[in-house]
Amino acid sequence: MKILIVGGGGREHALAWKSAQSPRVGHVYVAPGNAGTALEPKVSNVSIAGDDIEALLAFAKHERIDLTIVGPEGPLVAGIVDRFESAGLRCFGPSRAAARLEGSKSYSKDFLRRHKIPTAGYATFTAADFDPGYVKAQRLPLVVKADGLAAGKGVVICATHDSAIAAAAGMLQGDFGAAGKTIVIEEFLSGEEVSFIVVASGEQVVPLATSQDHKRRDDGDVGPNTGGMGAYSPAPIVTRNLHRRIMHEVIEPALRGLRSDGTPYLGFLYAGLMIAPDGTPNVLEFNCRFGDPETQPILMRLQSDLIDLCEAALDARLDGSEVRWDPRAALGVVMAAGGYPEAYRKGDAIHGLEHAANLPGKVFHAGTRYESGEIVTAGGRVLCAVGLGDSVADAQRRAYTLVHAIHWNLVQYRLDIGHRAIARER
Ligand code: AMP
Repeated sequence: MKILIVGGGGREHALAWKSAQSPRVGHVYVAPGNAGTALEPKVSNVSIAGDDIEALLAFAKHERIDLTIVGPEGPLVAGIVDRFESAGLRCFGPSRAAARLEGSKSYSKDFLRRHKIPTAGYATFTAADFDPGYVKAQRLPLVVKADGLAAGKGVVICATHDSAIAAAAGMLQGDFGAAGKTIVIEEFLSGEEVSFIVVASGEQVVPLATSQDHKRRDDGDVGPNTGGMGAYSPAPIVTRNLHRRIMHEVIEPALRGLRSDGTPYLGFLYAGLMIAPDGTPNVLEFNCRFGDPETQPILMRLQSDLIDLCEAALDARLDGSEVRWDPRAALGVVMAAGGYPEAYRKGDAIHGLEHAANLPGKVFHAGTRYESGEIVTAGGRVLCAVGLGDSVADAQRRAYTLVHAIHWNLVQYRLDIGHRAIARER
């Protein structure tokens, strides 16, 4: 089989690496990939941007690609799956209509309300009907969100009414371009965040191993929000009882609702949850794809064949699929460029990758590229170093052994990835 992975981040490196392990796979192409995917056996990069759907389709037809797996949300929300399917090509991911669950927060909130799935109270506004009086009447803190895709930056948590009004006005005036033309103002939920990711095909579903990520830049989960500074699997907070609640109260009604709304779901479905002190799994957001960096530790633990799993979903025979997991814990530490998540440096030579490659675990690349024979930084999140261990604490130790082997100018990373899970283990 020939596989095409769309995207060029750490998630796509992990998807390509795992796909290449399938004995049925002859070759994996990654568009556009990164320096890490270029180094993997059986994998090569194609220089087509992940959002250039027509060029991707032309490549897939020309190369007779058997299965395309789409990493990022952009092409999914733009309808890549519909386009490939209408050309008779197999493409793993939700249709454009189903991907609105991530593409529009107001749509997603209305969906949650309509299908009685627990989520924070909210109201939706445009510039034409924005009401500062509504904001002033709400309890603090308040969460202001741009409706559309904003690369993880369209969420502002506001401690005062004035700052919430300012954030709302900024979005409505174009701070996030078209993504902020509609905004959602939401009640603030406290609790602990969990990522719950499944493979779905209509109402058939296989939950993946549990995971948790760290969104804030700095140790202790403070500082600005990022795309994710690290993640681990399993997440000890997800007890068997909580797992059951998430399936019954979130995943199953969501898949039923998608089907009854006429937009049945196929692909990875990611529920970002805030677990309330009473155990209620409130949905913060749905993503229509695998998480980054959750993909990296989760796929390190997946022992089953990823391509078999994707094909079972495409053929609507997911029910009864057995998915085997490495019982060990996996923990990934994101190594980011100086300045991230604001303007960051690019082009710094990365040292120590060869040494790290000889250590246990795996370093997945994200923002990296070749320049004059060297691997240099080329994005905000540059690498994700993943360790496997008998406990989250052990996996953490191994991940940081990898991190310490690698260096570049002004590299930044957190020192406490996994701290909540490790506290629970103790
Ligand atoms: P989202 O893109 O909607 O998941 O929001 C990004 C991050 O903002 C989440 O991972 C949370 O850390 C935080 N967040 C979003 N909505 C809320 C909320 N209603 N209450 C508390 N934190 C939130």
